[in-house]
Amino acid sequence: MRSRWVSLLISGDGLAELHVHLEGTVRYETAVALASGHGLPPPPPYRYSTLDGFLEIYRRVAESMRTAADFERVIREHAEVMAAQDIRYAEISINPSLHPEHDWLEGVLSARRTLDVEIGWLIELTREGSIEANARAIDIALSLEGVVGVGLVGDESTSAAPLAPLIDRAHARGLKFMPHAGQAGSAEVVREALSIGADRLAHGVASTSDPDLLRELAERGICLCMCPSSNARIGLSPDFRKLAEAGIPLTVNSDDPAMVGTTLVSELDLAESQLGLRREDLVAAAWRHRFA
Ligand SMILES: [Zn+2]
Repeated sequence: MRSRWVSLLISGDGLAELHVHLEGTVRYETAVALASGHGLPPPPPYRYSTLDGFLEIYRRVAESMRTAADFERVIREHAEVMAAQDIRYAEISINPSLHPEHDWLEGVLSARRTLDVEIGWLIELTREGSIEANARAIDIALSLEGVVGVGLVGDESTSAAPLAPLIDRAHARGLKFMPHAGQAGSAEVVREALSIGADRLAHGVASTSDPDLLRELAERGICLCMCPSSNARIGLSPDFRKLAEAGIPLTVNSDDPAMVGTTLVSELDLAESQLGLRREDLVAAAWRHRFA
């Protein structure tokens, strides 16, 4: 009975998604059009099977997003994708190091103000980025309307410890922190992310190799924002059941929906049918662990 009521309540609220990269939402036709508008060659087709292959596509698409109009178009198109799935709220990350000009910020502001769906932005730091580039990202995070947190991407073999003062700055101003950790990297990378103040984790699935870490994540209620199809596309198949059995709050997400070729609704279906996770738990966790 209780779960039926929970389901009814949840369906009334629609869906929420917490781990999506704006650059990964760009439709291929849009990426080609944006690239052509800037005199760039078209990005490679969205076909890849390794992380490096994916990152090359991602970099090329991001390179084609330059102006306010580019960002407005991409945001509006993803808002349509959200509305079609009844996603009422999403936390979407943007990586400023991939967009060195500032013109795009106005497009982010104007698009967000006129959408029917709600978006909270995460501004991403980069593990291998310079201190100056990461400080610029924090400045954007602290000044742009609609930002709810800071993200972290990049090669997990590069320590994030030097970024701790920037995270502290964001926390002091009320922003939250969701780093990517424990996707391709080890449980140690997850431990480091916690030590510099992670409030939630993007992926975090490598924690399955460390029983003490699983216990800590469960006790502290640190939510893992997992992306099953995105993992599968680069040959990763984490033990999602083990994370659920440890009592860790979990959500599923599309990550880079256009490039992965998935949607939040597909991820929820897959999680229920193939991973044995309960849809209502995943949806409720996404609402409960949002940063806004
Ligand atoms: Zn991600």
